[in-house]
Amino acid sequence: MKNCLSLLLLFILAVLSTGRAWAEVIWPLPGKPAVVLNTLSTLQFYGPTPGFHHGLDLAAPAGTPVVAPVSGSVETGHYYKRKSDYTYEIAITTSDGDRWELHHIDPDDIPPEIERRADAGGKVTAGAHLGRIYDASAIGIEPHLHINILSAQGMYLNPFIALSDLGDEVAPTVSETWWAEPKGDRYVEVEALVPGEFVLVIDAFDIAPGEFGRQSLYRMRVRQEGETIFEFQFDALPHPSFLEGTNEIYFLGELKTRDGQILRSEVQNDRRFLYAVPVKIPSADPPEIEIVTEDFAGNTSRHRLRGEVSD
Ligand SMILES: [Zn+2]
Repeated sequence: MKNCLSLLLLFILAVLSTGRAWAEVIWPLPGKPAVVLNTLSTLQFYGPTPGFHHGLDLAAPAGTPVVAPVSGSVETGHYYKRKSDYTYEIAITTSDGDRWELHHIDPDDIPPEIERRADAGGKVTAGAHLGRIYDASAIGIEPHLHINILSAQGMYLNPFIALSDLGDEVAPTVSETWWAEPKGDRYVEVEALVPGEFVLVIDAFDIAPGEFGRQSLYRMRVRQEGETIFEFQFDALPHPSFLEGTNEIYFLGELKTRDGQILRSEVQNDRRFLYAVPVKIPSADPPEIEIVTEDFAGNTSRHRLRGEVSD
């Protein structure tokens, strides 16, 4: 819980320090498409340990032109040591020191002028044509633009801070909750709750514009008998691969439910985002819990439970 609070403090500091020259950010894709595939806080399993996605994925057809969202010095190269056409990026560092990294631009279609400026340590102006979206469908990936905003302090900022105009009007949803043993993998019946420490596992997601499906949450606050016991807000992530926060927030174990189902936080297959909230139960009465979830556009939903009974 202490880790969670210090993480929260980092998020808040990051928000306070974002008084940037972003008023003139230009949408990097034409027509403001807003089909969101992944967000800053999407949990991903690309290795033995899961990690945050760190950026924003906007789906767009292969060949879609990309323009510079901000002005600044330009670099081109590969963001990953195993180079492929898919791992090409154009990065722009603004006068504030923020580095905007645009991934999955087709390396064979970069305007010579951009290459020349990148080689010479030159600058680009917001709105300059940078290239086109790489056709990743050949390797089984939906073509998209990935945007990181890396601050000079090494924080990954939530691109929604600068690209918030998504037209999102649908609040997040809490689809189900379970009680579990603190370190175990067993679902605990509400009737079996005794005074002590348990974990409230919350299956919650946000529907971002574009109807792609479930996204991880931007913000969650959990109250017990009116008092906040758990809170997170993904305005920024520590750099480079800070996993403590993942373990604090996502439920990473297996949960065996009453009907024998085994549940996991798993985004590659069913995009199920399970959040783990440690709860101290003071008496034999099921505690009164309220879960408040919010998306970046400010759409809020409230979910109350006394035990498993929600309204
Ligand atoms: Zn991505």
